[in-house]
Amino acid sequence: DSRISSLRTKLDICVKGDAVPDPIMCFSACGLPEKLVHNLETAGYCMPTPVQMQVIPASMSNRSLLVSADTGSGKTASFLIPIIAHCSQVRSQESTSNQGPLAIVLAPTRELCLQVEEQAKVLGKGLPFKTALVVGGDPLPQQIYRIENGIELIVGTPGRLIDLLMKHNVDLTYVSVFVLDEVDCLLERGFRDQAMQIFQSLSQPQVMMFSATLHSEVEKMSNSLAKNVISISCGNPNR
Ligand code: ADP
Ligand code: MG
Repeated sequence: DSRISSLRTKLDICVKGDAVPDPIMCFSACGLPEKLVHNLETAGYCMPTPVQMQVIPASMSNRSLLVSADTGSGKTASFLIPIIAHCSQVRSQESTSNQGPLAIVLAPTRELCLQVEEQAKVLGKGLPFKTALVVGGDPLPQQIYRIENGIELIVGTPGRLIDLLMKHNVDLTYVSVFVLDEVDCLLERGFRDQAMQIFQSLSQPQVMMFSATLHSEVEKMSNSLAKNVISISCGNPNR
């Protein structure tokens, strides 16, 4: 459709892949829970940013994604919004809520994990959506206790999460979304094998990878994690 492609050009969005869903122009356009739309308004998110316009509908159609966009373009909410929508949908259908996490976000540093978890709490407020932070510096038993008590999302660094999973049996059966945030930095820090190890303990999750830059190592990683990936890049096209 030429209207959609000129819209993407206007928004500086470039997509590659089969049957890429159309971008959305507002948060209420793709069936998000009312409470989540309300939380977005309260947070001052009046309109989706360009990366969110394309990533949210693509993610909500359960496709695996490789996304590159500048720092500050709103990538965090672009994966948190579909995750929160998914989790509250699953939990509202279940009779029991304590069946293990539904999503995992890996980020390269403790600080980044803290930021992601903070935003997740703000956007998921009042919904059946609890988070566990799995990073160094906080006591492991407390992190385990929190997971045991029932959470939807784990946000962690790869090393610490592996450490926790080796010491404690966490049921990962229901993890259907796996996010690698700042994947370029994850690879630079040598987290590739640990991220792969965590991925291999999941059963065919939707994979979403985010990066400020796209280089061959990032694309290689993407190819080893998912098939039929949609590649989305926003902003500077000569990256
Ligand atoms: P990135 O991960 O792409 O570097 P962030 O996700 O950290 O960027 O977002 C940068 C800032 O923009 C954050 O302070 C976030 O709260 C804010 N933000 C994200 N989405 C929106 C939006 N739709 N409207 C207004 N502010 C937003
Ligand atoms: Mg980010």
